Amino acid sequence: MSCIIPGCTNLAPNNFGVRLRRPDTTAIWAPNTEAYICDAHAKQGLIVTVTLEPTNTGEIETNVIGQVPPATANRVTPIK
Ligand SMILES: [Zn+2]
Repeated sequence: MSCIIPGCTNLAPNNFGVRLRRPDTTAIWAPNTEAYICDAHAKQGLIVTVTLEPTNTGEIETNVIGQVPPATANRVTPIK
């Protein structure tokens, strides 16, 4: 499997999954996703942003988007 991070060519054996836990820690659901992450990206750290959208399908749909930090052009200008 290839790593979900754009431009990464490492083998990616690690499957990204999500889990919803009850208070006793058992899972209501815990699907795998179609996203795989290489060992290097798994160990160096990631930012995980989660968006939840309700449906009436009785299913859990997962969409994982890998991205690199976007190019930015920032300037801070003091008010005179
Ligand atoms: Zn990677």
